[in-house]
Amino acid sequence: MATTGKLIIFSAPSGSGKTTIVKQLLKIFPQFEFSISATSRQPRGEEKNGVDYFFLSQEEFREKVAADAFVEWEEVYNGTCYGTLKSEMERIWSKGNIIIFDVDVMGGINLKRIFGEQACSVFIMPPSVEILRERLIGRGTDSMETIEKRVAKAEFEISKSPEFDHVVVNDVLESAVAETERIINDFLAK
Ligand code: ADP
Ligand code: 5GP
Repeated sequence: MATTGKLIIFSAPSGSGKTTIVKQLLKIFPQFEFSISATSRQPRGEEKNGVDYFFLSQEEFREKVAADAFVEWEEVYNGTCYGTLKSEMERIWSKGNIIIFDVDVMGGINLKRIFGEQACSVFIMPPSVEILRERLIGRGTDSMETIEKRVAKAEFEISKSPEFDHVVVNDVLESAVAETERIINDFLAK
């Protein structure tokens, strides 16, 4: 890649509070910019192409894989692929910004492996699987069937947490944000 810089990776089981924490961090660190992923799924609700994701057809996604346009990609859910475009990373780094990633656990592990010391990987851990389930129910965005699927996947995801540079337990939100802020400040000072 022509331009390089730093990147911070967040992965977590769905419902752990990753989005809530990252939103607060974006207010604290103005030089952070979200990497917009490509996906083969359809837009949901108010989602916009080029803002939430680059929405591609299955065919377009396959063509980009064949053209080696992705840094990493995964079939996160059955039949639905998500990936990080090299062009997106270049775009953010060329502005001198630091890239923030919200990727699934395997994507996070792969990005860390590829970028090594340039990357800081953080796993946001729920206090327990039961609390995770309660938060997903409380969020009110998913059916019970989807929630149970996400909870079942969480066990596997949690088993991969030791492969991340840092694990932050999101029990009391303010403490989790403060701990993550400390981790990032240490990383940026390196
Ligand atoms: P994720 O992005 O990891 O799927 P969200 O940020 O959407 O998770 O959080 C899931 C739900 O849990 C949301 O309703 C959010 O308001 C709530 N939540 C997040 N962090 C905490 C916390 N520390 N304590 C209680 N509820 C939380
Ligand atoms: P969504 O709820 O948006 O359909 O699903 C998002 C899931 O895909 C989350 O687990 C998210 O972290 C993951 N994801 C989003 N973009 C990427 C990406 O570029 N690469 C990988 N590996 N996972 C991604």
